[in-house]
Amino acid sequence: MRILIVEDDISLAAGIARILEAEGYAVDQIKSGEHAAMAARHESFNLVILDVGLPGIDGFEVLRRLRVDGQAMPVLILTARDALDDRVRGLDLGADDYMAKPFAMPELAARVRALIRRGQARAGPKMIHGPLVLDTSARRATLGGEALELAAREWAVLEVLLSRVEKIVSKEAIIQAMANWGEELSLNAIEVYVSRLRAKLEPAGIRIRTVRGFGYMLEDFKAD
Ligand code: CA
Repeated sequence: MRILIVEDDISLAAGIARILEAEGYAVDQIKSGEHAAMAARHESFNLVILDVGLPGIDGFEVLRRLRVDGQAMPVLILTARDALDDRVRGLDLGADDYMAKPFAMPELAARVRALIRRGQARAGPKMIHGPLVLDTSARRATLGGEALELAAREWAVLEVLLSRVEKIVSKEAIIQAMANWGEELSLNAIEVYVSRLRAKLEPAGIRIRTVRGFGYMLEDFKAD
């Protein structure tokens, strides 16, 4: 279990790292938001503890970038005391929990354990379709063994189609499935995400067929 701490207050970060390491977690510490967003792209973390007040890009921007990249690991944000707006904004941006500073370390450790449990419960098996692999627990996709970049909404649409290969899926059913993610999407938006998915997947021989006036169908994969 690997945890990333993004906090520019070195002594606070070290204190958090100490208590989490004592619980058996592997902990990485990063001071800058930019570096944190980059690290999360290249390494796999089970949880991110993210301070809102960072030099350069702030914690909100880091969180936004993580979610746009399709990174779905639990994120616990650290906010200034009484900054209710920050908590609301963080949760709106996809944070899973928050703690207001100053906080008690045992409480932080308890929240971390709960979030990691939740993150694992969410974890599912790999979805494989020809050369395409969606690792739903690590939240990573590969195509022909190469990393495939998918925005969060592209991922969600693809997951729906992959769960019903060779079956016609209505646009409404896709919207319904996205709603579980807390997303509100229009029929037109679905078309945009499908066309982006096609651009990424068709070169590898994966075809999403349009069923006019109804929806889409991910065709069975046949190697040429
Ligand atoms: Ca700070």
